[in-house]
Amino acid sequence: MAYGGAMIASLCIVCNIRHNAKTPFSSGKQYCVNCKSFTCHVCETAKEWRLFPDSHLHHWQSHENKILRCTACRVCSGCKATKDARAFDGNSKYCRHCDMHMCTPCGETQRRNELDENNLENHYVKGRTDALVCLSCMKRGYTPRNPEHYICSLCLCENSRSAFSAAALVVCRSATDKREPSEPCKDCLKIHERVIYNNL
Ligand SMILES: [Zn+2]
Ligand SMILES: [Zn+2]
Ligand SMILES: [Zn+2]
Ligand SMILES: [Zn+2]
Ligand SMILES: [Zn+2]
Repeated sequence: MAYGGAMIASLCIVCNIRHNAKTPFSSGKQYCVNCKSFTCHVCETAKEWRLFPDSHLHHWQSHENKILRCTACRVCSGCKATKDARAFDGNSKYCRHCDMHMCTPCGETQRRNELDENNLENHYVKGRTDALVCLSCMKRGYTPRNPEHYICSLCLCENSRSAFSAAALVVCRSATDKREPSEPCKDCLKIHERVIYNNL
């Protein structure tokens, strides 16, 4: 009995819990078997407790933070700077500064995973003018080359260029210039055509 027998409880230096002999310590170790290693929520790797920042591990054990982040994962994958765990959102590999980007068409700040990787990269290349367009805006037809809104003269919807017919494009105004819209969107055109057809 290396720890003086079952009657004497031993203090684990990691979880700070006094354990009895039922929760054994590996021979010569000051931490209990439960505290041998932890799985980082960011790299999803089981690592020795020493590879986590001390206070961060303690806060996690006392449920003050939900996400366990190893020391290596405190280096942001974007700016490569070492940051405090609080600089990251959840289990993101990117610090908040590198993770959040504003989409031009919807004006929303989007997480990196809501964006197209190539678009994001190109957007920050010096000399390039690619607008940042989130995935849901891309689905609506906005592109890095044309993130402009066009307004339908009938339903007044704000839409991407692709929502309008080629003819309409010539006269539709960008939402940023405040002139009157003058062409209907494709959906409105369809309805319009049906009305004309029915009246023939
Ligand atoms: Zn322990
Ligand atoms: Zn990690
Ligand atoms: Zn960063
Ligand atoms: Zn968007
Ligand atoms: Zn319309």
